[in-house]
Amino acid sequence: MMDTCRKASELLSQEQDRALGPVERLRLQLHLLICERCRRVEHHFELLRAAIRRCRDDG
Ligand SMILES: [Zn+2]
Repeated sequence: MMDTCRKASELLSQEQDRALGPVERLRLQLHLLICERCRRVEHHFELLRAAIRRCRDDG
């Protein structure tokens, strides 16, 4: 399996706009298992999403 960090961050960013398919999600999870850098990217997106949710709740 040749998952690159570029592909993984692409999926992470797409995940913000749409639901990933099962294969995409699996590939992403597998990559996150072996790649600490992309785990940090995922964490960043989670923070972002939480912040957006908070804004929506306030408004
Ligand atoms: Zn990576």
